[in-house]
Amino acid sequence: MKNVSVFCGSSPGAEPAFASAARDLGREFLRRGLGLVYGGGRVGLMYEIARTIHEGGGRVVGVIPRDMVERELAYAEAGALRIVETMHERKALMAGLSDGFIALPGGLGTMEEFFEVVTWAQLGIHRKPCGFLNVAGYFDPILGFLVRAEALKFLQPEHRAMILSDPNPARLLDLFETYRPPEADMARWALDMSKT
Ligand code: AMP
Repeated sequence: MKNVSVFCGSSPGAEPAFASAARDLGREFLRRGLGLVYGGGRVGLMYEIARTIHEGGGRVVGVIPRDMVERELAYAEAGALRIVETMHERKALMAGLSDGFIALPGGLGTMEEFFEVVTWAQLGIHRKPCGFLNVAGYFDPILGFLVRAEALKFLQPEHRAMILSDPNPARLLDLFETYRPPEADMARWALDMSKT
């Protein structure tokens, strides 16, 4: 793995533990020589991780739609800023530049971006690891939802197993290094879903 996308809140969240976890993850990227791909902003947890990596001498690529730059929230100092026209282009470029995808705590934007790349993994569009940095149990309710979705036959066990999770940045990235995607293709996926 060379570059990993991090999706996270444009807010810092209510607890200092969230910003602190974003900085810890940034330091783990630096230790491993991993480049950060992120939304390019100077806000919330996004800024915490990007600043930690940039100031520590690491690689940061921000991918930001033009109208967000114009609102002067782009973190241009961090290095490579890739300006795109739409949110769709942003997500496609971030996905193409990355060898894995992490969600830190965040809101609707974070969830939407993370689950889109997980859905692409489920369809076999890519085979890259996806996981939650589960700071202070923030993602426990959604992990519980996924257990329920599997129990109720809306989600295959091997697809739930694709979603990695750990509260510790080093352990999460170790899971990324050893990740093996399920050997499913589109046809088998469709067949399996019809049997359940
Ligand atoms: P949320 O999890 O709802 O806070 O959304 C995170 C998302 O906020 C990011 O992926 C962006 O779509 C969006 N966002 C808000 N402000 C900025 C900014 N200044 N730069 C980049 N993305 C931003």
